[in-house]
Amino acid sequence: MIVSKNELVRRSVRNMGNVDHRIAVFGKKIIAAAYDEGICAQITEGHRSYRRQAELYGQGRSWYRWDGRNYGSRGSIVTHARPGQSIHNYGLAIDFCLVDKSGQQAIWRVDESWRRVASISKDLGFTWGGNWRTFKDYPHLEWTHGMTWKDLASGRGPFDYPGFLIRRGSRGRRVKQVQLELGTAADGIFGPLTEKAAVTFQQKNNIQVDGIIGPQTWNKFYN
Ligand SMILES: [Zn+2]
Repeated sequence: MIVSKNELVRRSVRNMGNVDHRIAVFGKKIIAAAYDEGICAQITEGHRSYRRQAELYGQGRSWYRWDGRNYGSRGSIVTHARPGQSIHNYGLAIDFCLVDKSGQQAIWRVDESWRRVASISKDLGFTWGGNWRTFKDYPHLEWTHGMTWKDLASGRGPFDYPGFLIRRGSRGRRVKQVQLELGTAADGIFGPLTEKAAVTFQQKNNIQVDGIIGPQTWNKFYN
């Protein structure tokens, strides 16, 4: 029997757990879009509690204690992130793997299909761990737009208005994020095409039309 799309989405939702609700929507989209291209994949992990992170960090560090408890265990080191230092702890990261057509067997080989799933995810604004230079984490996808765990720990988030106007001439990761929402080429440079798309977006949403991304337009993206 061939595994159904619904089944892979169902498992993915279960495995993502308590991620940000917008990340959960993206996660389902990735699995469904991959399936439509003949690629069977599923999300294997999403939100991770601090306690779970302590267990993972303790693996291979027998001395490790956290929150008054011993979390050290044998084995080899699997992570360098302590509780609060993983994007998973904030519900903004998910991991995936491929599965065979029956849906019974996980496939961890990073081939063309695997890279295609990563590419679908990148189109939705995710950063792929397979693109990291120092430590490659092929199953890992995170939606932070350059924010670090320290930013997230301080209560800031990638869905929140960044606090400055994004307009013609602006550059950088936040411009890229805006371009993904507007559906224009995401090159991180706010030029005339991005401005035009912003105007169209504002007209469609009946908000002030100026082609500048301020709090009002920003909040229309995510709320
Ligand atoms: Zn991960």
